[in-house]
Amino acid sequence: MKEKDCIFCKIAAGEIPSATLYEDGDFRVILDLGPASKGHALIIPKEHYRNLYDIDDEKAAKILPLAKKMINKMTEVLGCDGYNLVQNNEECAGQTVFHFHMHMIPRYKGDNVGLGWHMGKLTDADKNEILEKMK
Ligand code: 5GP
Ligand code: ZN
Repeated sequence: MKEKDCIFCKIAAGEIPSATLYEDGDFRVILDLGPASKGHALIIPKEHYRNLYDIDDEKAAKILPLAKKMINKMTEVLGCDGYNLVQNNEECAGQTVFHFHMHMIPRYKGDNVGLGWHMGKLTDADKNEILEKMK
């Protein structure tokens, strides 16, 4: 299913041109137009899913092997020192395009890519509450 007016549906379908690194029947991998670092790319399924909450399991299962293949090749090509995989779900988590995508962000020693968070401390109350509710 495609969603009308979804920019990533159009990019995935090739209706809007993109710098495509890889394509198969299920996915297109493109360079991000606003890269966090040189080589920042996105894995985009050709079918429309809003995010990880609604992608189907069969499609989701193909994403990590594809990411692995891409970062191995990209590491060779770019000479980067590491990688972050980032995948945002919903606005509060930083999602701005509401068609599932996985960011692959090459990292270079000493780069100033600002991914991270202020580390808190796991409290006993939070731990116990979550463990109880997850039973
Ligand atoms: P999100 O914030 O939703 O996780 O990430 C959306 C990403 O899509 C951003 O990194 C942004 O730079 C990228 N992006 C948005 N529009 C386009 C576009 O038209 N083409 C490409 N290649 N990337 C885009
Ligand atoms: Zn879409």
